[in-house]
Amino acid sequence: MTRLYIFADDSMMGRETGTRGHLISTAYIANELQRLGLKPAGDNGTFFQNVPMIRRAFDERSTITVDGTTLQGGKDFIATAATGAAPSLGTVDVVFGGRAGDTTGALAPDQLRGKLLLQYPAQRGAGRGAFGRGGFGRGGAAAVATIEAITPEALRLATHPREGQVTLKTPTPGAPPGLVSLTVTPDAARALLGTDPATATRGQSGKTATLHLVFDEEPAPARNVVAIIPGSDPKLRGEYVALGAHNDHVGVLATAAQNHDSLHAFRQAQFAIDGLVRRGQQPTPEQQAQLNALHVNFDSLRQAHPIRMDSIRNGADDDGSGSVTLLEIAEAFASATPKSKRSLLFVWHTGEEKGLLGSRWATDHLPVPADSIVAQLNMDMVGRGAAQDIPGGSERYLQLVGSRRLSTELGDVVEQVNKTESMPFTFDYQYDANGDPENIYCRSDHYNYARLGIPVVFFTTGLHGDYHQVTDEPQYIDYPHMARVGQLVHDVALKVANLDHRPLVDKPKPDPNARCQQ
Ligand SMILES: [Zn+2]
Repeated sequence: MTRLYIFADDSMMGRETGTRGHLISTAYIANELQRLGLKPAGDNGTFFQNVPMIRRAFDERSTITVDGTTLQGGKDFIATAATGAAPSLGTVDVVFGGRAGDTTGALAPDQLRGKLLLQYPAQRGAGRGAFGRGGFGRGGAAAVATIEAITPEALRLATHPREGQVTLKTPTPGAPPGLVSLTVTPDAARALLGTDPATATRGQSGKTATLHLVFDEEPAPARNVVAIIPGSDPKLRGEYVALGAHNDHVGVLATAAQNHDSLHAFRQAQFAIDGLVRRGQQPTPEQQAQLNALHVNFDSLRQAHPIRMDSIRNGADDDGSGSVTLLEIAEAFASATPKSKRSLLFVWHTGEEKGLLGSRWATDHLPVPADSIVAQLNMDMVGRGAAQDIPGGSERYLQLVGSRRLSTELGDVVEQVNKTESMPFTFDYQYDANGDPENIYCRSDHYNYARLGIPVVFFTTGLHGDYHQVTDEPQYIDYPHMARVGQLVHDVALKVANLDHRPLVDKPKPDPNARCQQ
């Protein structure tokens, strides 16, 4: 609890990769490891493995030429390419896509492939972002240009990206290509299309444009924290049980501050309903009534508390809980005698929230051979799981994901060890089903180990209404519950580290560079 109140304090500013808060929080972990006497396994004898990330800013020297006319960056258009590889767009054909998010008569992928898709922005409230990072209807287009006036704010954000808007300098093999998003003025859109877009029809071909996009890249701080506790058995100490969590979170709100108490109450009621709807089920009349009654509760909440505005997403559960629990486990092993037979590898990953970038880097640049790692145990969000947090929750609630996806034996070990705990968990395996809509198996760092054929177990008390909100704060953590998760993960690690054989991999290994499929 003490560690979490420090790690998820406002002074960490939401621990977003690329920001000062991320540096402070990783320094905290490294200082603790130093104090506990773990062996550094990062760069140059330190606990830090630096991960080369960059911020990519739009340069106003960019131009687009079309039919002998030159459109000027910053005046006629702006471009962003926040993630993925540096874009190398040359000459592209323009196609008109109507209005984003309008599903009637949407263009087919072969109408879009390799083209510059020119479209009006989605209607307000049309569920922007509902389909993930790609947004609406990119469908293989080389770039998307939105027809909109260029505001001074948009220009400033493109030329001076937020501190936390970072991506890997060199994208990893198999990573999806970087997406370029442009904003073009209505006049520039007319030049690109050759006619007035206001009267164009969806699918209409435009001109051929030559893009000369210039981006300036600056390095951004990002680091994994890596430590080892050497094993005691001369024959087995060259093998490792890896344990992980992620040290980063999603930073401060880019928009206006929010009232903590109203938000917490609303999100809690909404979360249970959202989960049902994603599974094609209906909320119960009681759940709906609770949500409907909330405006009444808001009035009483505001009387009970002065309005508490907040803009820092502290990530107490995500993944402060996993990070400090991993420190507790490291402390327990560091002070134990005798040591486990196999060695232990601890990694606090950066950039999880940016698309598992830190764990991807860590597993491509491991301090020990990949095939010496016999299992990886990952914790992300292990501090909630009560009945009011998640449907089916209780003090014994714990989700396991991936535990038998490579090694049946490893999944069995977790079950056996759980039975020996003072208060065994009731494991919820429903999120481990193939094709589950939450896609948890692909959504945290363990997957980057699993892709190398390393058996993994993902431990989590699950999503909840405060997920990625300013209300994910230490006051809502169930500390005894979190401590028991830590005990279980410790005991599983100890059991695996002392086995006379490594857990048998009896399932097919994935292609390490393929897209994760749950
Ligand atoms: Zn997380």
